[in-house]
Amino acid sequence: MQESAAPTRATAPATGSLWRGQLMLLSCVFLASLVGISSRPVNYLSAFWPANAILLGLLLRHPRWAAAPGSWLWALAGFVAADLLTGASWQKALGLNLGNLAGVLAGWLYLQRLPEAIVRLRHQRSVLHLLAGCTIAALGSALVGGVAGSRLLGTPLVDSMAMWMFSEFFNFILITPVLLSAPQGWPTQWRRQDVLLPLRGRPMPPLLPLPALLVSEVVTVLVGGPGSLGFVMPALVWCAMAYGVFPITVLNLLLYGWKTAFAALGTFSFTNLHVWEVVSLRMGMGLLSLAPLAVACAYGLRLQALEKLNHAVNHDYLTGALGRRALMERGSRLLERLREEGGSIALLMLDLDHFKQINDQHGHAQGDAVLQQFSALAQQHLRPQDLFGRLGGEEFAVLLPRLTRAQAEAVGERLNQQLKAQRFALPGGSELRVTLSAGLYHVQRPGPDDSLEQLLSRADRALYSAKAAGRDQVRAYEDMPATASA
Ligand code: GH3
Ligand code: MG
Ligand code: MG
Repeated sequence: MQESAAPTRATAPATGSLWRGQLMLLSCVFLASLVGISSRPVNYLSAFWPANAILLGLLLRHPRWAAAPGSWLWALAGFVAADLLTGASWQKALGLNLGNLAGVLAGWLYLQRLPEAIVRLRHQRSVLHLLAGCTIAALGSALVGGVAGSRLLGTPLVDSMAMWMFSEFFNFILITPVLLSAPQGWPTQWRRQDVLLPLRGRPMPPLLPLPALLVSEVVTVLVGGPGSLGFVMPALVWCAMAYGVFPITVLNLLLYGWKTAFAALGTFSFTNLHVWEVVSLRMGMGLLSLAPLAVACAYGLRLQALEKLNHAVNHDYLTGALGRRALMERGSRLLERLREEGGSIALLMLDLDHFKQINDQHGHAQGDAVLQQFSALAQQHLRPQDLFGRLGGEEFAVLLPRLTRAQAEAVGERLNQQLKAQRFALPGGSELRVTLSAGLYHVQRPGPDDSLEQLLSRADRALYSAKAAGRDQVRAYEDMPATASA
């Protein structure tokens, strides 16, 4: 699998104006801070503080916003406004929120210089960098917020820093990946294949891994005990292989969010009375979440690589049409299906006229360009169920299922007309016109004796007859002079 990542970090498309982005940062930070404040036991740190992790994710996804110093001020305003609105003093609002911002800044400084594939969790080293970035971010907030928190809330410095460090680590490692891996345009518009990466080619996502995860969590709650944190791991790994990176970040967040809430409500309160239990739990859960994420990254990359390989094996490199072997394999399967279902099949053999002259007069590169453009043009005018392949050189074949002979002939005529109408620009400003000859063989109900090779050879004879008759035309096998179609 490829080790290297894109050398430069591509910037996100400039959607919307900067002030809209900054307004978005302000409102996200403000609302997320209110959520966090509502989970804050009196005079203690919040049990759940999503604002910093969300801000880090947004800034990494929108480099343009992050590059404007004003954005950071707007984010700080969001933090401070939420605190002041809920009755905090100016001192507390500024001190604690500078800690929040310091963490985000530290994590951003580490992650923003990495290639986009790594940051967006599309690289095999993504998880390691995510771990490093979140640790640095947590350290940044512990250094500033932990010290400020100790002074403002009167907690021992070590306890305060440990609480900041590991609650922030937990938040960053569970929430930021959701934003980093979210598909472009999410949640308003996205393509299914961008969300469920390993699903390509399959009609439905596998359904069982999700109930398996739920059952594992029920068992975790019922059995309990020190090892119960690991009970969900097999189901999570299964989900990772079934659904891909983005869904696993969401599942991780929901699962470990729920586990934290369950612990906070039942086992021990998230106050300074239980600093080290809370630290241990958060660190353990944060680190555990990385395992299924790493599996999802590696599995998704493996599927992508297989897909690329598969495409390279089955398609012609120059024109993107099916290669000869893939055309024969898929064509044989299609013919078999049509035989069983009683559907008709038509075969068109296409050959560009006087192609050698094009190469000789205008160069091989020009010849290649003609082949590429013809292939693109042909594929534009064919249906998804038609098979289009390059047999070699300037010779192509099309398999057209379930058409009448007249319809299939019309397809050949259309390709002929389209190619004739196409003007291939030449370097000197002049234009090149190209024509093709086509041979058609149509079978209304293919029988057991109709092999693909035989269909091809008859269409080839029709093509030969079209060439002999002066080129630039479509000739059906049945219309060939009697001597030729023996
Ligand atoms: P006809 O009208 O009878 O089909 O004549 P033609 O010149 O098109 O046919 P011929 O078989 O004599 O020549 C085909 C040429 O196609 C010869 C070969 O050099 C060229 N060719 C084959 N593959 C490629 C390719 O990938 N790129 C380019 N540029 N030329 C190719
Ligand atoms: Mg030719
Ligand atoms: Mg030829």
